[in-house]
Amino acid sequence: MNYPIWVRYGRDAREMAADLLAAAQVERRIPAGASVAIKPNLVVPGPASLGAVTHPELVEGALRYLIDCGVTDITIMEGSWVGASTRQAFRDCGYDELARRYDVRLLDLKGDETVQVTVDGETIWVCRSALEAGYLINMPVIKGHCQTRMTCALKNLKGCIPDREKRRFHALGLQRPIALLAAALRPSVTLADGLCGDLEFEEGGNPVAMDRAALCFDPVRLDSWVCALLGFSPEDVPYISMAEALGAGSTYFEPADIVPLNEPPSLPQASPSRRIEELARHIDARQACSACYGSLLHALSRMREAGTLPRVTGSIRVGQGYRGQQLRGIGIGRCAAGCERRLPGCPPTARAIREFLEDAFRDS
Ligand code: SF4
Repeated sequence: MNYPIWVRYGRDAREMAADLLAAAQVERRIPAGASVAIKPNLVVPGPASLGAVTHPELVEGALRYLIDCGVTDITIMEGSWVGASTRQAFRDCGYDELARRYDVRLLDLKGDETVQVTVDGETIWVCRSALEAGYLINMPVIKGHCQTRMTCALKNLKGCIPDREKRRFHALGLQRPIALLAAALRPSVTLADGLCGDLEFEEGGNPVAMDRAALCFDPVRLDSWVCALLGFSPEDVPYISMAEALGAGSTYFEPADIVPLNEPPSLPQASPSRRIEELARHIDARQACSACYGSLLHALSRMREAGTLPRVTGSIRVGQGYRGQQLRGIGIGRCAAGCERRLPGCPPTARAIREFLEDAFRDS
């Protein structure tokens, strides 16, 4: 099934979640009387502004939508990474307060019963409450990851296995185990937080404002798009195609499958981390939307990791302030189409930017 990927830009996470769920008519898919589970990413305790965890406001938007649709049985469930306390994450990430306000349950999956599931001849252990949810809403963060390069829909499900299994997954190199888990535990829908996920690390610290959220019924397809969004090629993130081979979804998408609900907003004033400041030296932004600017930062970061980013690049232009101008040098996005060398798109993905810049710097 060719599911669309709905994208909503903005900074009001509550509205963004409700709009995406409504656009996809999620209420029609929830069986009457079903227990609904929401699985955010609360990998470590801390505020969502650091780029690691799902914004509670996004989950709040989903809760309001569900309650308006008459859903009464809702649980927010998570098992933070090994060594972190989920209880503390619930508290420090703002979920205790959220659960109180909306009278929903919080479940620490670290204490949940586990069930043995066999996939492709291999056995994995999965938390029973996630497996048996009547409707599972996966709410990951779109962000970089130091081992798997990126993390979103599929890797977020790792919070639904016990700690001993998380350790085993790491010992096995993560890629195939994540794919097996994708086949064992299929979220009903994935609503991804792309507001300010981290540039490189799942625990945050270098948030990049991207001001978007996205929804898809196919987690493999969503991850495949996120892979491009963050500047990676499919070979960089093998677990996505492994999950496809196990029947967990499709990696295929084309531009027509991406359905934006609105236009990207312009870039907010924020205090970037040093790592991001270093990359921003290469950019000359004028009234740039965060979606374009953030994609360019991710592309530069991928190039730096790959050793293809020259020390001096000249200014790379991006933003609405370049509309209608004929300029020398490099321009990114439709607005900078008057530049001598330019990449169209509104906004282009980081993968497209990376490929374009690597070509441009190779030629120069
Ligand atoms: S191309 Fe222009 S309008 Fe489109 S995202 Fe980039 S800066 Fe914004």
